Formats: sequence, structure tokens, C-alpha cells
Amino acid sequence: MSIQVFGMQVSRGVAIGRAVRGASSRVDVAHYYIAADRVEAEVARLRDARDAVAAELQTLKHEIPSEAPPELAALLDVHLMLLHDDTLTGATKAWIHDRHYNAEWALSAQLEVLARQFDEMDDAYLRERKADVEQVVERMLRELARGAAPAPGGVRPPHPRSAGNGEEPLILVANDVAPADMLQFKRSVFSGFVTDVGGRTSHTAIVARSMDIPAVVGAREASRLIRQDDWLVIDGDIGVVIVNPSPIVLEEYRFRQRQSELERARLNRLRYTPAVTLDGQAVELLANIELPGDTEAALEAGASGVGLFRSEFLFMNRDGSLPDEDEQFEAYREAVLGMQGLPVTIRTVDVGADKPLDRLSPQELRHEHGLNPALGLRAIRWSLSEPGMFRQQLRAILRASAFGPVRILIPMVAHLAEVRATLEALARARQQLADAGHATGRVELGAMIEVPAAAVMIRRFLRHFDFVSLGTNDLIQYTLAIDRADESVAHLYDPWHPAVLELIHQTVASANAEGKPVSVCGEMAGDPAFTEILLAMGLRSLSMHPSCVASIKQRVLRADVRQLAALLPQVLSDDDPAAAARRLGLVRAPH
Ligand code: PEP
Ligand code: MG
Repeated sequence: MSIQVFGMQVSRGVAIGRAVRGASSRVDVAHYYIAADRVEAEVARLRDARDAVAAELQTLKHEIPSEAPPELAALLDVHLMLLHDDTLTGATKAWIHDRHYNAEWALSAQLEVLARQFDEMDDAYLRERKADVEQVVERMLRELARGAAPAPGGVRPPHPRSAGNGEEPLILVANDVAPADMLQFKRSVFSGFVTDVGGRTSHTAIVARSMDIPAVVGAREASRLIRQDDWLVIDGDIGVVIVNPSPIVLEEYRFRQRQSELERARLNRLRYTPAVTLDGQAVELLANIELPGDTEAALEAGASGVGLFRSEFLFMNRDGSLPDEDEQFEAYREAVLGMQGLPVTIRTVDVGADKPLDRLSPQELRHEHGLNPALGLRAIRWSLSEPGMFRQQLRAILRASAFGPVRILIPMVAHLAEVRATLEALARARQQLADAGHATGRVELGAMIEVPAAAVMIRRFLRHFDFVSLGTNDLIQYTLAIDRADESVAHLYDPWHPAVLELIHQTVASANAEGKPVSVCGEMAGDPAFTEILLAMGLRSLSMHPSCVASIKQRVLRADVRQLAALLPQVLSDDDPAAAARRLGLVRAPH
């Protein structure tokens, strides 16, 4: 039976594929296809892991102290039995044989199937046996990780849009995916994903958009309703997931998929066209990136620089260690060289909130600490509380500036004391490098305007910075007191709120009056619904995911800024600015 699950639209497009259910904690299990001639070797890997775990359990059983409760031996027997049960190892082998999944992926796919069966059991005792299966699988996954390095067998993960190798495209369905885990997606096989929780500007959604794969978040019941291997259609344009669609619906979506490929190819032809409005205003379109390797996509999209390098992603997935100065320097230099002389704006680390250094999701964090991490020690607050770490990062960025134009961007400044402390740290870092004989280039310093306090006192901030960049994701979150990662208040997260527009307008007007560059690097910059209003407010620089550059350029090419600016006062003074913008033609239907 076909059903529909509704969530929030976060990343446009249509994805069609089979569901892979994954617990957040298991998304970091490697997912790759095995070449046909490596299938038997992969099955052997699985068998070896099983045998090693069986031996480990036998040893444990023999070493049980005599005073231990008898249940312990019984439990180990249950685990040994499960290990050899056909529903676990036999079925896992089938995933490898039939689908060419690597062993870890096959094992976690089968665990999802079994977990579902246990959840549906009436008998409470039997239901609780799920934990035993999970423990056995965890042991096997650990053993696989310990054993011979997983060999992708020469088959690289296909591009998310096509499954490649004749394999079926896959869609991940999970309760939540932490931003750190999303990074694994860049190397994964998934062509879309669906989560129960999350908001439109949660970092999980942002990373999905940066990868240009269709996604739906906040689809509350998705992971309960969708089963392993169900056929799914993600309609990323409206935030709907269709489970086991009928052949007619499937055909309709395949048609739409082909249409959007054609549209994409058409937009790509704008790559070398300068972004200039009808009345001759040049607009700078920059890229937001998470990793140095993303510069390739930025250049390919025709971005004229990097407006936001979210450096905190270098600090994730590291099992507790942090990158030292040299490691960071290498990464920043790679990004600078990658951009081939175009400017790279490196934001100092913005951990905290929904990007904790450990793997906890915001929900888990809140559950653990009962605090609101979005209002806690994040971004510049964290950096200033770790002066050694902060100085290492500043030195690494300054050293990279010897290889091309670099700008430093400070996240979440709200107090002038933070500005002063940052300037002092930067001066000290420069001096240390000079003393050590390191070459550095000229580096401009900018502030993210993303806390209402900073927008309100923008003139004072501008005295200390060379440029500012509006972080509208957080500015909206903090102005409206809406947690951007919480789907239960997502309907209140409103970029068109008069207070939000007022703060953006004030910031842009003040920066323009002072002759200081101002940009927007929040999600509004890459959303065509806001291009006209941002241009009308006086913005001439927008930073967005590389995949958004072409469609925003198309809006810029069709805009007449003089006309738009004349309409702005009517929009800003209206109680319903979104409706006024539509009425006055400031928001145009997508082409
Ligand atoms: C923002 O807040 O708008 C922004 C660009 O930064 P981030 O989304 O990483 O918080
Ligand atoms: Mg921010």
C-alpha cells in the first residue's frame, strides 16, 4: 500500500530509491558497493568477523568467575546462538550477494530488519531480545573495523544522483542525522535522505543542500512508517515522501526527475555569465563550503570566491582530538590554492549548538544536559574560552594567507569585549608568526552579524571590522526565539518577519553608508524567493551553496534593482511583508 509522509522541504529535487533505515549512530558505518568479483571475498570478511566474535564469546564464557550470576553464561549462549542464526548471518550474506553491499552495510541493513521485527512482537520478553541482537551486531562491526581495512573493491561510491554500476539508488531514513555524520554523506551512496526531526536551517539540512541531494526533514513518523527496502520517492520541492508509490505516480516522478536534470543543464550554461542586473549592478555570488575539497564544486558553479568556509567541520569526526595548527594550515592552504586566486573567507570555528564536538544530536544534548546549547558556549564564545586553540587557528589561517587572498570571519559576536579580545588574539598570532619568520598575506577581518545585539549596534561594530556578513539562519533564530533545529516550532521560523527584515535592512544600510562590504551567507542568500528583496535592500554580495549559484544568478540577471528599491518601503512597512512582496512583484514565481 502506498502512503505519504509529510515533512519540511530542505533540499529541492526528486529522489527515487530504496529505503535504507539507519540509526544515527550507525550512519558512520561505511556504505559502498562491492565489485561483482569481490563478493565472495566480502562474504569471507563477514565470516571471519563472525568466527572471531564467536571465539571471543567462548573465551569470555570460559573466563566467567565462579561467583558470577548464572544468567551471564546463559546470555553469552544466546549471543553465540544469534551469531550463527540464519536470520542474522545468512540474511546478511544475501545483502552482499544480491545487492553488493559491503559487509558493514549489509550487517546494519539486516539489523534494521530484525529490530523492526522485534519491535512488533507482543511478548515483552521477546521484544527485549532486540538489545541482544544489537550487541552481537556491534561486536561484529567492531571486529570488521579491526580486521583488514575495508576494501571498496575498486568501486567508488557513485554520484548521489545516479546509483551507477546498475545498482539501485538508495535513500537513508533515520530519526536524526548529526551534522558530523552528514559529512560522511559526501562520500556515500545515498541519493536522498529523510529524518524524523530537524528544521529547514538545521546544519543537517544545510549540509544536505550543499550536496544538492533531495531531502525531507521533520517528517516525524518517517522512521516508524518506512521499512527497510521500501521504494521511496522524495519530493524535495514540497517536503513529501511517498512510500511504495503506484506505477503511475512513479512514472510521473521519473518524468519530473528528467525535467529537473534538463533544467539543471540549462542553468549550468550561465556559469560564465557575469552576474549583473538589468540596470547594470554587479552582484558578487560566493560559495559556502564545509571542507577544502568543496572548492572544486565552488569553481565549477562559477562562484567568484568562498564567502563562508565553515571551518568547524574540520573539527568533527575525530574521536575527541582536535586538529593542530599544521593540520589546519594544510586544510586552509588547500582551500586557498583550490580557489586559484579568488578570495576565501574562513570562519573561525563555530562549534556548539547543533554542531557539538562529540556526536550527540541537539536533542540528545538537551536530553543529557537539560540546557539550550544554541544559547551556550558556541562560536566565538568557545574560541575565546580556549585561547590556545583559538590562536592556533588564527595562526593557521594567517599562514595560509601567504598562498592567496584570505579573509577571517568571526561568528556570533555580540559584545564589544569579544571584539577587543579577538583583535588582541589576532595581533598576538601575527606577532608570533613574524617572530618565527613565517610569511603571511594581508588578511581582512569580518564579523558575522547573526545576533540581534550585533545588528542593533552595527555602527559600533563596523569601526572594528573590514567587512560584515549576515548570518540570517542564526539572526532569525535569535530574533524570533525559535530553535532552528526544532521541527515543532519550524512553522514560526520566518525570514519574512518584519523584525528580521528590519535588522537586515539596518545592517546593510549602515555598512553601505560606511563603505564597508556587506554580504549574506545564511540560507536566505541561496533561496530565490529572497533574491529581489535582498537586492532591493542594497546587498551586492551573496554567499550560498555552490548548487544554488546558477539559479540565483538567473534571478539577478532578470532584476532591475532601481525598480525593486523603489518598492522596498512598502514591503517593509506592511504588516505582512511576504504578501506585500508577492503583490508588488518582489517575489516572482520560479522560472
Ligand atoms: C548563519 O547563521 O546564517 C550562518 C551562515 O552560519 P551557520 O548556519 O553555520 O550558523
Ligand atoms: Mg550562524
